[in-house]
Amino acid sequence: MKTKKIVIIGSGFSSLSASCYLAKHGFDVTVLEKNKTTGGRARQLKKDGFVFDIGPTFYWMPDVFERFFKDFNTHSSNFYSLNKLHPAYQIYFGKKDSISIADNFEDIKQTFENIEKGSGAKLQKFINKAHRNYNIAIKDLVYKPGEHVFEIINHKTFLKLYEFVLTIKHQVSGYVKSKQLQKILEFPVLFLGAKPSNTPSFYNFMNYADFKLGTWHPKGGMYEVVKAMTTLAQSLGVKIITDSEVENIEIKNKSVTGVTTNSSYFPCDILLSGADYHHTETLLPKALRQYSESYWDKKTFAPSALLFYVGFNKKLQNVSHHTLFFDTDFEAHAKTIYDTKEWAEKPLFYASFPSITDATTAPEGKEAGIFLIPIAPDVEDTPEIREHYFNQLMDRIETITGESVKKHILFKESYCVNNFKEDYHSYKGNAYGLANTLTQTHVLRPKLKSKKVNNLYFCGQLTVPGPGVPPSLISGKIVSDLILKYH
Ligand SMILES: Cc1cc2nc3c(=O)[nH]c(=O)nc-3n(C[C@H](O)[C@H](O)[C@H](O)COP(=O)(O)OP(=O)(O)OC[C@H]3O[C@@H](n4cnc5c(N)ncnc54)[C@H](O)[C@@H]3O)c2cc1C
Repeated sequence: MKTKKIVIIGSGFSSLSASCYLAKHGFDVTVLEKNKTTGGRARQLKKDGFVFDIGPTFYWMPDVFERFFKDFNTHSSNFYSLNKLHPAYQIYFGKKDSISIADNFEDIKQTFENIEKGSGAKLQKFINKAHRNYNIAIKDLVYKPGEHVFEIINHKTFLKLYEFVLTIKHQVSGYVKSKQLQKILEFPVLFLGAKPSNTPSFYNFMNYADFKLGTWHPKGGMYEVVKAMTTLAQSLGVKIITDSEVENIEIKNKSVTGVTTNSSYFPCDILLSGADYHHTETLLPKALRQYSESYWDKKTFAPSALLFYVGFNKKLQNVSHHTLFFDTDFEAHAKTIYDTKEWAEKPLFYASFPSITDATTAPEGKEAGIFLIPIAPDVEDTPEIREHYFNQLMDRIETITGESVKKHILFKESYCVNNFKEDYHSYKGNAYGLANTLTQTHVLRPKLKSKKVNNLYFCGQLTVPGPGVPPSLISGKIVSDLILKYH
């Protein structure tokens, strides 16, 4: 039998994952990536001896990564070394007022107890619930392709229906009264791209991932995972062609026959796109697009981001590898992201200093800093606006941590809405894809298999199961299973 040719658009985590599974099952796989390197939103920036992850920095759910590597009879340790971070992260609530989250649950419980009497025992109950949801969600539900609602209806999920209706914000406030502890418990669901007041409480499994499974760091940064998956894919026979933008999808009788890039034509039997879903559909004739412009416009997108990559000429003292600055009113900030869609006056932000625990990411005696402000997709992006927020961030860090940073800056690079659009064809410049709200979960997300083109499939953070690196690995697996089912 003739080997079937599959072309995959993009080389983000979901595409790389899918390419490995499809090559393992005997398909002839070619990955076409528009940028110069693989990894999509998880590429790397190197400058003057500093190394920065451009996108993801939190390595959560190590079990999902191991499950992926195990499917190829290997292990992450054959490619990169992992360090469990202690503290996992630090959260600043105001001037010299911060809480550090330890690398083990007993210490985290004690931290809670010290802040609010009785909250340690309540946290235990909350996490027990979150653990049960983790087992249901991550070990089973998220691996369902979202073809039919019956995939996820069973006696376990039936008993959990109320947790899909209640929000995480509501649930958390029933367990702890301290505003600081509430913010800590609401933090993990921000990875899902929506407000805690708009995220079903079932997603508390993210709290289990946070407190029980821990925060890890691959030596060298998250890009090491991209390198590992690229190497694995190539060892399985996948051809990866970078600097190769797909500009047109050729269709005959409602089936893809091939794609055209800026330089060549690639015939194929099946096309899989891990590029942003909206962008891929714009490469099709209008009649063959499944979702209209107004469909996309009405969706709740996860935030975009303003990012800075900064080299400091000294080691910083009062921050941790991951440091969150929750010194402002999150409700007001969230309103600007999801409702008014404008810049927040004083946004909360996240900072990562990988060189605190990983000497390979900065020259000796220096510190690499990555700063991220979540913002509304498609807000105005100008050099002046970027500069304004950079100055605000540096001022706030100096005030809050009590340490001078501004005069120690060697260089800074920035990244924002316009870069997301240019580099990834990202819809409205979103950073993390489509949010996981109740009405954007499972069957209610854009489909993995096109309903209008026979041999066209999608994967990645705009489809099933959702945003984040672990879900992207899973997306690659479930779309491959679907392709095997239909071809
Ligand atoms: C700033 C930032 C921070 C994040 N932090 C975290 C974190 O800490 N932890 C976590 O788990 N997740 C995090 N995420 C989310 C995570 O990085 C993403 O969910 C994941 O990387 C998305 O992978 P993907 O395969 O869906 O898509 P992408 O990575 O977007 O890959 C799509 C690829 O398609 C390519 N492409 C687009 N159009 C074409 C075309 N026409 N032809 C050829 N190629 C094309 C793009 O160049 C890109 O390489 C973060 C994301 C961002 C942006």
